[in-house]
Amino acid sequence: MNDARRFGLCGGCAHAQTLDSKTGSRFLFCLRARQDPRYAKYPPVPVFACPGFEPRPAREGGTAG
Ligand code: SF4
Repeated sequence: MNDARRFGLCGGCAHAQTLDSKTGSRFLFCLRARQDPRYAKYPPVPVFACPGFEPRPAREGGTAG
């Protein structure tokens, strides 16, 4: 399952950070939680609505070829 389906909005949010465990699990942290107590450090995913959502910028350079 891709991140967008698994994590909802968080899967495409600029404030989300993922961490892959040795066992293959992927965890998601909300970086907004560091400075704003309204946000959970580990939001219950999938998130379908969030006032803090900001789209993750597209990667520089585009696609090769
Ligand atoms: S700001 Fe909202 S959408 Fe973005 S990572 Fe945090 S909980 Fe997810």
